[in-house]
Amino acid sequence: MNSFAEPEHIQMLRETLSRFIEREMPLELVRKWDRENHFPREIHEKLAALGLMGLTVAEDFGGGGRDIRATMIAIEMLCGRSMAVGGPFIQSACYAGLNIAEVGSERQKREILPRVVGEGLIFAYGISEPDVGADVAAVRSTGTVVGDRLVINGAKRFCSGARISDYIYTLVRTGPKEDRHRNLSLVLVPSQAPGITFEAQDALGLKGTGTYDVSFADVSVPIENVVGEEAGWNNAWSMLVGPGLDIEKMEVAAMALGIAAAAVDEAWTYAQERQQFGKPVSAFQSVRHMLAEVRTKLHACRVLTYHTADVLDASGKAPVETSMAKLFVCQAAQEIVLTCQQILGAYGYIREFDMERHVRDILVMPILGGSSAIQKNNICNMLKLAK
Ligand SMILES: Cc1cc2nc3c(=O)[nH]c(=O)nc-3n(C[C@H](O)[C@H](O)[C@H](O)COP(=O)(O)OP(=O)(O)OC[C@H]3O[C@@H](n4cnc5c(N)ncnc54)[C@H](O)[C@@H]3O)c2cc1C
Repeated sequence: MNSFAEPEHIQMLRETLSRFIEREMPLELVRKWDRENHFPREIHEKLAALGLMGLTVAEDFGGGGRDIRATMIAIEMLCGRSMAVGGPFIQSACYAGLNIAEVGSERQKREILPRVVGEGLIFAYGISEPDVGADVAAVRSTGTVVGDRLVINGAKRFCSGARISDYIYTLVRTGPKEDRHRNLSLVLVPSQAPGITFEAQDALGLKGTGTYDVSFADVSVPIENVVGEEAGWNNAWSMLVGPGLDIEKMEVAAMALGIAAAAVDEAWTYAQERQQFGKPVSAFQSVRHMLAEVRTKLHACRVLTYHTADVLDASGKAPVETSMAKLFVCQAAQEIVLTCQQILGAYGYIREFDMERHVRDILVMPILGGSSAIQKNNICNMLKLAK
């Protein structure tokens, strides 16, 4: 079934990535990376050599030109196979590429974007803190100007991929906390800078990148590491809630879509192979109906993800549509994966089957990038529902 008439460059991207996944990411390796919580850096570098990080970067900086639909398809395909490769791809193409292209200074664009494209430079997001989840503007980590340096102190939590990253894209308070939305800045902190320590958190899924508690003790960086430089000083809030946030919501939707698609493929195949009562279990109406439902929901997720990506490509900004896509796709994808797990019966619950990994990975999608509750708040508020 193919309902999408796709332009030639997208068809080529799909073919190239399919071949790459088959060749470089066989399932035995994918399972090993997950089991050992291993980041296969050599695969990331091969993706960069293919030019994949350039999907988000303008030609002036060595990329192929920003293409959100193509980026979402790459996320879907890579995350459907392995979060240990798909996660770092997002950290490079999106966290680094899209953010610096969107809100970096001209100097930062010239220095960083060619490295994203050529080397697959990796950023980690240092936004959440021990006492800061949805209420991002409450951050307590600080940046203090000392001469021509900025000195960072504080603690970040759930900093995914911090250990494999080149920079931590760190949100700090750089002015009095009374004006909580204005006095925030984003800072590029080299992940190996003296004064940074990491402590791994033991998360259920998203193996490969890992997620970390990161402490900053008098970490000193040049003042020009403030993202956007002068324009970015005390101005992080507008950077965080701008077009970058729309794309971040879509990144999570595309991850969830990829994981759900992989789960449907596995359940579809398994149901036709597993024999009970002398027939494949796909002959039983209850199983057939579950498979029809997951395929239908998956189709709806895909249509909504691609349509919203096209809106972003056309208009650059779609705060309501991206919240709707993030909310719907992540919830539906979770339902899809849990239904697929039921189709595998006991085998959906053991490590030998990929379904077990899909279940662990999908559970976090409605939480990441603004929880489902926060997306519902956004939709009502942006559509001005009376309070
Ligand atoms: C595996 C993993 C990886 C992550 N990676 C990163 C990362 O790389 N960088 C990073 O900065 N963060 C990361 N996070 C953190 C993630 O972004 C936060 O979990 C998320 O922002 C929600 O914060 P919280 O979990 O502290 O929930 P809280 O904000 O404490 O919320 C708890 C509950 O209350 C609800 N709630 C909160 N406020 C409201 C409200 N106003 N209205 C209605 N309901 C509300 C929430 O929906 C939730 O159900 C990661 C988390 C996980 C689990």
